[in-house]
Amino acid sequence: MYYDWTIILILPGLLLGLWAQARVKNAFEKYSKVHTSRGVPSQEMVRQLLYKEGIVDISITSTQGTLTDHYDPSSNTLRLSQGVYGSDSVAAIGIAAHEAGHALQKEQSYPFLTLRSIMVPVVNIGSNLAWPIFLLGIILSFWPLMYVGIAVFAAVVAFSLITLPVEFNASQRANQMLSESGYFTQDELNGVRTVLNAAALTYVASFISSAMQLVRLLLIARRRND
Ligand SMILES: [Zn+2]
Repeated sequence: MYYDWTIILILPGLLLGLWAQARVKNAFEKYSKVHTSRGVPSQEMVRQLLYKEGIVDISITSTQGTLTDHYDPSSNTLRLSQGVYGSDSVAAIGIAAHEAGHALQKEQSYPFLTLRSIMVPVVNIGSNLAWPIFLLGIILSFWPLMYVGIAVFAAVVAFSLITLPVEFNASQRANQMLSESGYFTQDELNGVRTVLNAAALTYVASFISSAMQLVRLLLIARRRND
């Protein structure tokens, strides 16, 4: 960690992130206790919803952990977490439908998802290397290296920016699939929206957080060059 006054720049993203996580936790706890009138477990429900969309060859499995739900485009697998798989709650249905939204994106080659998938390996390496490269540049007083670190980190910021339309679009598709199915009451659909909106906010927080870190790197670099 590098300490100087610019460290205050990471505070807004950090606080927003904590607040967003608390909201997700609250919404999830609240709506995990609310059963849907249809009474169909989430994995079965999304299988039905995706079937209507013409997606029949997807695997749907359970995975360890809380809120670890994700869709893996490379193996076309939807993995639902412990509180979601097997549950017919409003929260479980909403989260599973969101992941199904990603499956639909894959099926329809949604451009931001494609771009995001291409960036994943680069960003995995980049997010670990950006700061070390940058700090090495400072230690050696070699400014081109500092800017390489900044460029690598800019790719990480671009990635979290591209994540936003991917996530918002998946939730939009989820809301649409659920409401068009005719299986759910308006209250249930509103509950799903509350859960998915809270989750979306965590992605906004992590974008703001990474963007502010980039600003911080630029400010440190500029001062070092004065
Ligand atoms: Zn998602």
